[in-house]
Amino acid sequence: MAEIVIVGGGPSGAMCGEQLARSGNTVHIFDEHLAWEKPCGGGLTHKAIQRFPFLLDNPYPKKLIHSIELIASNEQRAKLEMRNPIVIYSRMVLNGLLLERAQNAGCQIHRSHVVAVDTSGEKPRYSIEGEWRTADFLVLAAGARNQLLPETRPLQRDELEITQGYFIPQAADSIIIKFLPHFDGYIWSFPRCDHLSVGICGSMASHNQTELRTHLQTFIGKQRLSTEAARFYSHVLPSPQVPTLSQRTVVGKNWALVGDAAAFVDPLTGEGLFYAMRSGELLGKAIAEGNPEMYTDWVRAAFSCELEFAARIVRRFYRGSFLGTAVTTRMVQFLRRSTIFRQIMADIFSGTQDYTTLKQRVVGHLGMTLSDFVTSVLNVDSPAIAKPRPDGVTVR
Ligand SMILES: Cc1cc2nc3c(=O)[nH]c(=O)nc-3n(C[C@H](O)[C@H](O)[C@H](O)COP(=O)(O)OP(=O)(O)OC[C@H]3O[C@@H](n4cnc5c(N)ncnc54)[C@H](O)[C@@H]3O)c2cc1C
Repeated sequence: MAEIVIVGGGPSGAMCGEQLARSGNTVHIFDEHLAWEKPCGGGLTHKAIQRFPFLLDNPYPKKLIHSIELIASNEQRAKLEMRNPIVIYSRMVLNGLLLERAQNAGCQIHRSHVVAVDTSGEKPRYSIEGEWRTADFLVLAAGARNQLLPETRPLQRDELEITQGYFIPQAADSIIIKFLPHFDGYIWSFPRCDHLSVGICGSMASHNQTELRTHLQTFIGKQRLSTEAARFYSHVLPSPQVPTLSQRTVVGKNWALVGDAAAFVDPLTGEGLFYAMRSGELLGKAIAEGNPEMYTDWVRAAFSCELEFAARIVRRFYRGSFLGTAVTTRMVQFLRRSTIFRQIMADIFSGTQDYTTLKQRVVGHLGMTLSDFVTSVLNVDSPAIAKPRPDGVTVR
């Protein structure tokens, strides 16, 4: 029976607390907001629903989405129908649901700001309202913005994305994803029960806030959305590179990082909710078994190889070209032509097709040009910079 302190009651902290309390530990979760409307799309893929069926099986408001419209930078469009839906929550509702589960499992939940942590002694210490307290183990689940990083390094500009968006009181039934020319990121519109979360994400190293704002306003104008009664938001999102995932320390002798604090986000899609919940669950199990050091291996086996794969191809996806046209535009063009490709991409978006086994699925099922296209994007062995071919065409 240990006393465990969790700083942050978002999806990663609440999930970790639930696991630990169920296995008989004394758990305190501290969050400065508790359930709040954290800037987010709020979309959970089918793999999250499969792993955590309570995400569908509960009375709280949520929206099930079966279709996605992709818009290329040249305005060509393609629509994907997903066999398995994406579920979209308001973050106030999702965080509330997860904190309620943690509380029902036995966690003690406090609305407090943790000012500092110190893990240099035998027992970790944390400071609240000028008072230092101790625990047996400290979990940092305080998100991407937090500065409480004992014995590890902060994320750098090229490991982060900036985001901006609006909660717009309007209804829709499809997700929209819009790609932009020479831009490492995308614009999204995620329909929730009673509003849309419309936003843009882009690499912090390559883009600035003004650029993002201009692209977002143009999209909002073209989609005829009104921001009159809308609420603006802005936040940072981890966008890990391979070394971020393979080398950054996420567990020490009496502390560990989960979710965004550990940079467990898909750098290609920005999906972080599933990885936050899964990492919280895995850390909870590792601590409960008395082996927190197992956490790194378990995360690796569960998902971090997949995130590393995404980190290897992300630049080629957003900046590469195939037969002289941007990869994202080619993708939309191919989607308009091929039913099989549409199905494969729908499975990627809904989270049932991973990147690492994609090549196997594609070979033999798609025509030569489409297979070449997918292989060129997935080819992690070749560099993501332009290479002229003997026939003069530049392929990335
Ligand atoms: C604009 C945007 C859109 C996104 N859209 C999606 C999406 O559609 N789908 C998806 O899967 N992912 C999405 N993500 C990523 C997703 O939001 C995160 O991956 C996820 O919230 C991570 O959960 P977490 O629990 O690790 O951190 P958070 O959700 O950030 O929770 C951290 C908690 O810690 C608390 N906290 C921080 N510091 C302190 C402190 N010092 N003391 C006390 N409490 C503290 C905060 O109040 C917060 O509640 C998006 C991210 C952004 C920025």
